[in-house]
Amino acid sequence: MTSSTVAQLLKQTTLQEVEVKGWVRTFRANRFIALNDGSTINNIQCVVDFENTDETLLKRITTGAAVHIKGDLIESQGQGQNVEIAVTSIEILGDSDADSYPIQPKKHSFEFLRDNAHLRTRTNTFSAVMRLRSSLSFAIHKYFNENGFYYMHTPIITGSDAEGAGEMFRVSTLDQKNPPLTETGEIDHSQNFFGKDTNLTVSGQLEAETYAMSLGKVYTFGPTFRAENSNTSRHLSEFWMIEPEVAFMDLAGNMDLAEDFMKSVISYVLEHNMDDLAFLDKRLTDEEKTKPQAQRSELSLIEKLKFVTENNFKRVSYTEAIDILRNSKPNKKKKFNYLINEWGADLQSEHERFLVEKHFKCPVILFDYPANIKAFYMRLNEDGKTVRAMDILFPGIGEIVGGSQREERLEVLKEKMAVLDIPEEELWWYLDLRKYGTAVHSGFGLGFERLVMFATGMSNIRDVIPYPRTPQNAEF
Ligand code: ATP
Ligand code: MN
Repeated sequence: MTSSTVAQLLKQTTLQEVEVKGWVRTFRANRFIALNDGSTINNIQCVVDFENTDETLLKRITTGAAVHIKGDLIESQGQGQNVEIAVTSIEILGDSDADSYPIQPKKHSFEFLRDNAHLRTRTNTFSAVMRLRSSLSFAIHKYFNENGFYYMHTPIITGSDAEGAGEMFRVSTLDQKNPPLTETGEIDHSQNFFGKDTNLTVSGQLEAETYAMSLGKVYTFGPTFRAENSNTSRHLSEFWMIEPEVAFMDLAGNMDLAEDFMKSVISYVLEHNMDDLAFLDKRLTDEEKTKPQAQRSELSLIEKLKFVTENNFKRVSYTEAIDILRNSKPNKKKKFNYLINEWGADLQSEHERFLVEKHFKCPVILFDYPANIKAFYMRLNEDGKTVRAMDILFPGIGEIVGGSQREERLEVLKEKMAVLDIPEEELWWYLDLRKYGTAVHSGFGLGFERLVMFATGMSNIRDVIPYPRTPQNAEF
């Protein structure tokens, strides 16, 4: 007989002999094992005939132990489950020292669990989060696959430091204590591994653009790295990004794509991950109860997800948004940390969240930002001062997507690079796209962990990636 998963057994209606392997969550009254194997948030109850079980064996059934159970699947005698297993044999596959095992059957703080990230998926919350993370990745690939996109792998080590999205991590094999120097005393990168200075990528966009201009519709989904010292609950030094890029698509098309895509992947988990979502929904509701009334969210997790799938995203220009913010209560009462005085101000997360959570109360797409607060490659508008950029703002998260229509005019792009001191030699291949069959094209970047935060209701980005990398922290 082969082992079944807990998920299979809980759904099974034929009552028969079964086998299952998993980890003991709890063992009550020398009789009831709550067993979990990661296949579902739910445990299966295994009832031990303790009178006929060896006492030393009973002592080894401890929280965290790995066990192999054989028994009969029967209708449950107790409440809370339809079926349970009347155990006929139990084998301890791996003992767990009950006293030192960090994951005790009680509530642990997320900080404590971060220090034990190698074991935290043995809790309900983290196993649910990581199953959702997996499911969302699948939904993303499925969406693009069904919509005619090719999946492209962009390089992780990059030779251009002009990607313009933030500080980078250097990749080098030079002797750090005694690097070779040029005549002028600079580090001689011609002797470095790649014969030049290289970094970990901050985005796959520029390379994705090259493929969009031949394959039409492409996307990347890979790790990106930013060496910025932003110790916030929404920033990681290593995170995963989804970046579609589409030829012949303008900014309006880009917004349509992003909205349809976000709705589709969220619908997917609403359809396929309800057990986990129901658990996380309750967890969030309990957490909200500990907050002062004014800070509580009006919607539960599942309501928030449905709210996104069922409502149109509000499209608002940067200029309109500035007007709203300038005249807003927190601005007038000087409650914002950064007050909005004039057109041209960069929006901080407090402003984004005000727009989404207080003013519009729905996901918002802001577009047509001032050129000088956005990246060099964004398409300049006819007004000469704004670019065809768009950011999607989500409740509780702030910016979740950043995208734009790309500058397709060679001369305009060159001028922009000159102003920003980006050498043309550095991006000759990027400029080539504008020389040979240039065309309107657009794309966006979605920070995967921000999506997982939204879908799980977790408030710290460190809790939605298995092993978070943040300043001063690269354990595991
Ligand atoms: P932010 O203003 O929040 O720092 P950004 O403007 O630097 O974001 P982009 O360069 O546009 O972001 O990157 C695209 C997307 O990647 C963002 O919308 C966000 O979802 C995500 N993202 C950016 N930086 C990080 C980070 N350090 N950790 C996790 N996700 C990030
Ligand atoms: Mn940033």
